[in-house]
Amino acid sequence: MSTNPYGIPDVLDVVVIGGGPAGATLAGLLARKNRNVLILERERFPRYHIGESLIPGFMRAMEELGMTERLEARGFEKKAGGTLLWGAGRIPWGFSFIEGTPYKHAYHVRRADLDSMLLDRARELGAHVLEEATVKDFIEENGRVTGVTYTVRGSEVPLHEVRTSLVIDASGQARVLGRKYATVNWHEDLRNVAIWTYFDNCHRLPGAERSNILTEGLSDGWFWAIPIGESTMSVGYVTTSDNAAANGSLEDMFSARREETTQVKELLRDATQAGGFRTARDWSYTCDRFYGPGWALVGDAAAFVDPLLSTGVTLATLAASALSGIVDTVLDHPEIEEKALERYATTYRRFFDEIRVFIGKFYDQSKNKEFYWDQAQQLADPERKFTPRVTFIQLASGLSGANPLFHIEIDDLIEEDAPTAARA
Ligand SMILES: Cc1cc2nc3c(=O)[nH]c(=O)nc-3n(C[C@H](O)[C@H](O)[C@H](O)COP(=O)(O)OP(=O)(O)OC[C@H]3O[C@@H](n4cnc5c(N)ncnc54)[C@H](O)[C@@H]3O)c2cc1C
Repeated sequence: MSTNPYGIPDVLDVVVIGGGPAGATLAGLLARKNRNVLILERERFPRYHIGESLIPGFMRAMEELGMTERLEARGFEKKAGGTLLWGAGRIPWGFSFIEGTPYKHAYHVRRADLDSMLLDRARELGAHVLEEATVKDFIEENGRVTGVTYTVRGSEVPLHEVRTSLVIDASGQARVLGRKYATVNWHEDLRNVAIWTYFDNCHRLPGAERSNILTEGLSDGWFWAIPIGESTMSVGYVTTSDNAAANGSLEDMFSARREETTQVKELLRDATQAGGFRTARDWSYTCDRFYGPGWALVGDAAAFVDPLLSTGVTLATLAASALSGIVDTVLDHPEIEEKALERYATTYRRFFDEIRVFIGKFYDQSKNKEFYWDQAQQLADPERKFTPRVTFIQLASGLSGANPLFHIEIDDLIEEDAPTAARA
């Protein structure tokens, strides 16, 4: 088998675009099954990324990737649950993950650290990883994507190319493949923007809530306060794009709204800002197609939902875990590719929609907590196996029951006498 100047084979089983949580999880799990996988990642890790508050669904995906002990040893802040100043009456309420799931905690992380650990794990399991490699375009043959072209920073070769049986787009909101082969549907009720920064010398919530994420609603938006170090917090404000446009400077808005908070202000009473402001347009969206001939989408490249429930990294890693099983089977049984990827897309979309629809209802701050719990039950537990409160916790943990996304059964698609063949 020939290799390119980086020691990577010219033909692979799978090429993954992007080495974030989705790409690293998918590539690591496929490499562990002895698949020849390449991650092409535009940046050199560690690189900054937002998305610092994790939920138990992520822990589930990390068990599969063999990361549980390493995450524990890394000393990330353990997140036991959430404290909310949310809904009618502005009365604080909260929950612990252990009340509704087998998990005592998830983590708050600096994403630069977490994402490097996951990319290293993919490498360790046998995935080829090429950093500072930016995917530029796709190679097509007879209507099928059969490879990608990419540049490498500092390389004298203007454009490299690699052939593969499947290309998986895990490029996050860049949506490299989705931009060409899918159409984005924006969710009109969740056209928001976020502005955030970091503070040192912060106070903590009291007692058992010490490591909770604090979510505090205001009349025109909400704040997050996430403890990511002993006294350091990530603090962000989310509001509608229309509201931001009508109010001028987002930084001025952040400062003015911070003064209107009760608990966030209290945590920051002796704090000093420890960095500049960052902003993101966090409009929620779903691609109209999650797969096509020779390709599939995963993580933010497929769909993104507002950060109100901190679900992004969990959706990305759970979907990557499910997709790894499907891709592994499809490589041996290419004849079931379309049906198998359709099953992946349907399951992923249902799981995603459950969370998205719930977040849409949760945004209505005129209701009380019992209303939100009931909404969670109607969506995620229509058979009422659990109490509404427990279902809310399961949903907010990324582990709700109605449409689970860990493993998708496709063995029934394989005909007993079908030939076994790998394309690459
Ligand atoms: C304001 C805000 C707050 C958030 N808060 C949370 C939170 O608290 N908890 C949570 O779980 N989630 C949160 N999220 C969501 C979270 O950031 C994402 O859901 C998560 O990072 C998705 O992971 P991913 O692997 O799909 O994509 P990413 O993490 O974005 O990784 C994609 C990778 O692809 C690479 N790439 C892009 N283009 C190319 C290319 N052409 N070639 C090669 N590589 C490429 C990028 O460099 C990147 O490393 C938040 C999002 C926003 C906007």
